[in-house]
Amino acid sequence: MSTRLLYRTFGVRTFDLIKTTFDKGVTYFHLVKKAGHRRCVCCGSRAVGLDNARTYPLRSVPIGNKPVIMVLILYTLICMNCGSRRQESRDIAAPRKSYTRAFGQLVLELAGKMTILDIARYLRIGWDLVKSIIKSSLRRRARRRSWRKVKRIAIDEFAIRKGHNYMTLVVDLDSGRVLYWAEGKDHTALRAFFQRLRRSGAKLEAIAVDMSGAYLKAVRLYAPKGVRLVHDRYHVVAEMNGVIDKIRREEQNRLNDEGKKAIKGGRYLLLYASEKLDEQPEKKARLDKLLEANELLHKVYLMKEDLRLFWSQGTKKKAEKFMRRWCKEALGLGNKHTTRIANTILRRFHAILAWYDYPITTGPLEGINNKVKVLKRVAYGYRDNEFFGLRLLFIHEARFRLAGA
Ligand SMILES: [Zn+2]
Repeated sequence: MSTRLLYRTFGVRTFDLIKTTFDKGVTYFHLVKKAGHRRCVCCGSRAVGLDNARTYPLRSVPIGNKPVIMVLILYTLICMNCGSRRQESRDIAAPRKSYTRAFGQLVLELAGKMTILDIARYLRIGWDLVKSIIKSSLRRRARRRSWRKVKRIAIDEFAIRKGHNYMTLVVDLDSGRVLYWAEGKDHTALRAFFQRLRRSGAKLEAIAVDMSGAYLKAVRLYAPKGVRLVHDRYHVVAEMNGVIDKIRREEQNRLNDEGKKAIKGGRYLLLYASEKLDEQPEKKARLDKLLEANELLHKVYLMKEDLRLFWSQGTKKKAEKFMRRWCKEALGLGNKHTTRIANTILRRFHAILAWYDYPITTGPLEGINNKVKVLKRVAYGYRDNEFFGLRLLFIHEARFRLAGA
């Protein structure tokens, strides 16, 4: 192959081809630096002497489906100008990588259309090399991404594996991008996020978050002053669902057989939103019967349904009045669970009411969560939490295949 062709097809400009060999279907191009391109890597001087040489086999773009290896013969250069003794530069490959830049580029292009395993088979390399090429590219892109325009974000946690191993995610609510991921779900998981956000020059306005203590602590410790916290409405409602569930269980334990029978199997009926039962008369009848039989559950059920109306009060002022009345009623029931949720709401009232200034939720994270489930189903590569997290940062793009390793 002529040097010109080598340049055209493989982008090799600074090397001369000295021989080509073949072994077991693999083509080897042996390359040595052109004399004119031999420079000291420290000072750039051309006044260099040659010391011993070493060879570096680099995986390169295939010819058809035949693998190609570029064998670089690199000399140690002794510089007459600055006196340093360093190996000459590789040019066609990044330092310490076992493949050429062109090969890395090819893998990234294929990654938009093929699974990691398919790419590995097609290029006849290990899937871990494919993964590592994609991973370095994602890392680079994540570092370069600008956060300057970030104004409203949502923070939430995900279970990576059931029961343990959590990941904290931050989403930009205006662009829909995942901005940040970290292992764990305590306040330290967010420290690096707020540090980078500050450096980015962003003017953060509001954060949607659940009512759990960890993220509130993170916001208190690291978030810029004056940022508005908005408690996610679905988490508030879910909290009330938890209350009704606990009360149902306690009633079931407390009551005699007949009372038990009346509320048995009512768990999901109680958690349904009432309008969802309108089209299911049979379930609705069962729920009505259950509520009739148990006064406490009936009251708490109505309060749960009532609570959801807080977010459709029209004005902040009406909403405030609405919620104060609701909390008073909840406290009036004299039940420890309704008392606890009323106190939580009153303590976090400012941030719950803030929804009327910033109607934001952690909802977009739920959508991402569904995509994550697709990602999780495939074990390959995702035992690597960093790779998993990096892919989440680009989950809004079609560029990387989400399903399949
Ligand atoms: Zn030098």
